[in-house]
Amino acid sequence: MQTIDKFNFAGKKAFVRVDFNVPLNENFEITDDNRIRAALPTLKKILKDGGSVIIASHMGRPKKNPDLKYSLKSILPHVSELLGVDVKFAPDCADENAAKMATALKPGEALMLENLRFYEEEEGKPRGEFANDDEKAAAKKITKENQKKFTETLASYADCYVNDAFGTAHRAHASTALIAKYFDENNKMFGYLMEKEVLAIEKIMTDTARPFTAIMGGSKVSSKIDIIENLLTKVDNLIITGGMSFTFTKALGGKIGNSICEDDKLELALELLEKAKANNVKMVLAIDAKVADAFSNDANTKFVLENEIPDGWQGLDVGPETEALFAETIKASKTILWNGPTGVFEFDNFSHGSRVVGEAIVEATKNGAFSLVGGGDSVACVNKFGLANGVSYVSTGGGALLEAIEGRILPGIEAIRGY
Ligand code: AMP
Repeated sequence: MQTIDKFNFAGKKAFVRVDFNVPLNENFEITDDNRIRAALPTLKKILKDGGSVIIASHMGRPKKNPDLKYSLKSILPHVSELLGVDVKFAPDCADENAAKMATALKPGEALMLENLRFYEEEEGKPRGEFANDDEKAAAKKITKENQKKFTETLASYADCYVNDAFGTAHRAHASTALIAKYFDENNKMFGYLMEKEVLAIEKIMTDTARPFTAIMGGSKVSSKIDIIENLLTKVDNLIITGGMSFTFTKALGGKIGNSICEDDKLELALELLEKAKANNVKMVLAIDAKVADAFSNDANTKFVLENEIPDGWQGLDVGPETEALFAETIKASKTILWNGPTGVFEFDNFSHGSRVVGEAIVEATKNGAFSLVGGGDSVACVNKFGLANGVSYVSTGGGALLEAIEGRILPGIEAIRGY
């Protein structure tokens, strides 16, 4: 498989799919440029080699072409500044002008294409309202045909293809997966960011040092069933925490007061516990909880046993005995995956458990464990507590990471390296 480090881009044009889907405020100013910074090593390497780059990304979910509130032109000055070159801009990603601009690129120059999703062909899904299923199916067929042309057009701009957009790796879109088939094996590769993400997933899912502990938190068990099921075939310890723990506690006959619970998932919780037993996985459940008399940072609080929560009270974080149990389990692990907080960490008074988990992961990592944090709120957690530098890897991909942990093959990865 080709790698970006080995590849010499001198005199070559590289089509680089990045994830510049950054948040903007009402004045179209970037409020968090991490995603742009994350792609810089790849873009800089290409320019430094004497290649030229065609930068391609989506932004938001535009409904038409063009939908200027999602124009990548808003971020052009900042991309130029960070990259240290005057990045040119093609106001339509797939017209003749874009092709001309790509052809005219000289070594060391960069061109950014307008938002790929201005074309419905990028996602391959027809937009608009349809009177019936037949009409929709017909529109879908046409979009799929057009998608082929669109993909060919994008591919025609470049000599090689680099995918550095892990955030969209779980999508089989034109620029994230389909385009790869227009380049031979030696001329397609992951960018540095994508390479790190793929490696981190591999270390967790296939090249695992044991014991392997996964910490699954967050609000609902229903949104994480597939992940838990897959992890039960991989891990040694599974810590179930956050709001979803109360579904397990209730299923086991505990009293959970007013804590959140999915009553239609009680059977499932018991099945998962059975499966864990059958697979020799240790399920680590909470012993005690920090309960509140309202869903508020300023509510009255007390510590009670997880399965003896009085009516009128709800568990919003774990208690000290649980913290100690979780920390002990984590510190004895050699591979750690963290997805989801132990409580309502957005409220300072209910963030202690998540902080303890984060700190235990940092300590385990110092002692040689590999730790991966990812999938939405746990990333916010490690950032809130200033712990991001102490873990092995913080994933940039929410949905993509979760699908990878579910055991699915991500089209963006498959398109480059096959399986
Ligand atoms: P998820 O998006 O499923 O990972 O859930 C993350 C959210 O779960 C965060 O916003 C937390 O505030 C919330 N959460 C965690 N623990 C609890 C709890 N005990 N009660 C209510 N919400 C919770």
